[in-house]
Amino acid sequence: MFNIGIRMKEVLEKGQPGSEITVMGWVRTFRNNQFIALNDGSTNTNLQVVAELGKFDDSLLKRITTGAALKVSGKLVESPGKGQHVELKANTIEILGDSDPEKYPLQPKKHSLEFLREIAHLRFRTNTFASVFRVRNTVAFAIHKFFNEKGFVYLHAPIITASDAEGAGETFHVTNFDLENVPRTPDGKVDYKEDFFGRHANLTVSGQLEAELGATALGNVYTFGPTFRAENSNTTRHLAEFWMIEPEMAFYDLEDNMNLAEEFIKYIISYTLENCKEDMAFLDARLTDEEKTKPQQERSEMGLVEKLQFVLSHTFERVSYTEAIDILKNCNYNKKKKFKYPVNEWGIDLQSEHERYLVEKHFKKPVILYNYPKGIKAFYMRSNEDGKTVAAMDILVPGIGEIVGGSQREERLDNLEQRMKEMNVPVDEMYWYLDLRRFGTVPHSGFGLGFERVVQFVTGMTNIRDVIPFPRYPKSVEF
Ligand code: ATP
Ligand code: MN
Repeated sequence: MFNIGIRMKEVLEKGQPGSEITVMGWVRTFRNNQFIALNDGSTNTNLQVVAELGKFDDSLLKRITTGAALKVSGKLVESPGKGQHVELKANTIEILGDSDPEKYPLQPKKHSLEFLREIAHLRFRTNTFASVFRVRNTVAFAIHKFFNEKGFVYLHAPIITASDAEGAGETFHVTNFDLENVPRTPDGKVDYKEDFFGRHANLTVSGQLEAELGATALGNVYTFGPTFRAENSNTTRHLAEFWMIEPEMAFYDLEDNMNLAEEFIKYIISYTLENCKEDMAFLDARLTDEEKTKPQQERSEMGLVEKLQFVLSHTFERVSYTEAIDILKNCNYNKKKKFKYPVNEWGIDLQSEHERYLVEKHFKKPVILYNYPKGIKAFYMRSNEDGKTVAAMDILVPGIGEIVGGSQREERLDNLEQRMKEMNVPVDEMYWYLDLRRFGTVPHSGFGLGFERVVQFVTGMTNIRDVIPFPRYPKSVEF
């Protein structure tokens, strides 16, 4: 058996001086031919391994280089140095894997996030990314725990589908055609009948419609899976492949939906603060350092953990779209023409700069915007009495903008069919979706939370490409 080691987090937290242990990890630094800072990924704090002078061959010591993998056995002793309460006095050191210091790209110094993105296969070995990915794991766990405690059923929505849920057309095609030789119909169109599924298929942009099918039988369900959008947006908030959590609840109206979403986001934050103290403290300090490089007026007033605690202790501001437009139209920012897209009429789609103004400058806390004009929202959202708006809601947070998009769904067959026709959604093809409204239709609601956006929010990372292990975006599909 190889795995007779103990994880360093445990050693550092409760290791008893005098005990004999074995650890395995990667060398971060090696000082004075004597002190090895070893890390095994369980924590950012390295275990100091002491290789007493004269005890080990020079040929072995030469191979202890940054990045090399070691297996070390020895005795845990109280550390005379500061920074750790115990250290490991090595008895045996085995080199599991050498690392050529001339070629290893990670040096024991600070590297830029941009540089690390280019070596994403190795960036897990830095403190920043190790923290980010441990926090990402905890956030995922918190999500399952939250819904499990509430009796929701985790439903796996399909990844390959024939429907484009949003009708936005930004889908990736799924085909096994030989693209050099695509079958065509007599009038020259691509003949999808010959394709693998016998019709056109694509990667899912959202599991919502399928979640609705589950909710109207199981009551409350949620999906948590990858979604794909071929939108050509090179922003710090968009990926071509991202994960989304989509709860869908029968017998919920828009207000129930907002309540659940707010409780959910707060649960994720408080669970992570509670269970990732060390990583959150590290990310907090990292962000403070990063902020120092910005001009004074652009720095945020609060530290990361402080900001998250502030979010926990305040209710999200609930503001209708119409009220939001009034605020934006009359604000000095708009009057001084500081928005790239000026706000002058009801009905416009809010740009990210408008959303951020509302949360960061005006309300200074998360905001739930609801009752949007029907013209800028999807066909399945429930029409309000005013005939102009739909029961939609978006949650906006400081630093990011939208993290949740949701709505009460249109449960009335006539209304839904009419909206589909108005918006050119194929009514016949979607018979299964309409069947929900034919057989025992009920009020129901749901929302989508972008997983990477919530991880961004919790970790304070500016770029969404730094919170997913292997980001996919235009012209980039490495690793
Ligand atoms: P945005 O306006 O920011 O592009 P959207 O209106 O297209 O968002 P929805 O279709 O409502 O977003 O998707 C639900 C959630 O999924 C969003 O609130 C966001 O958190 C997340 N999301 C949407 N598109 C992306 C993307 N390309 N990359 C990462 N997360 C995304
Ligand atoms: Mn979008």
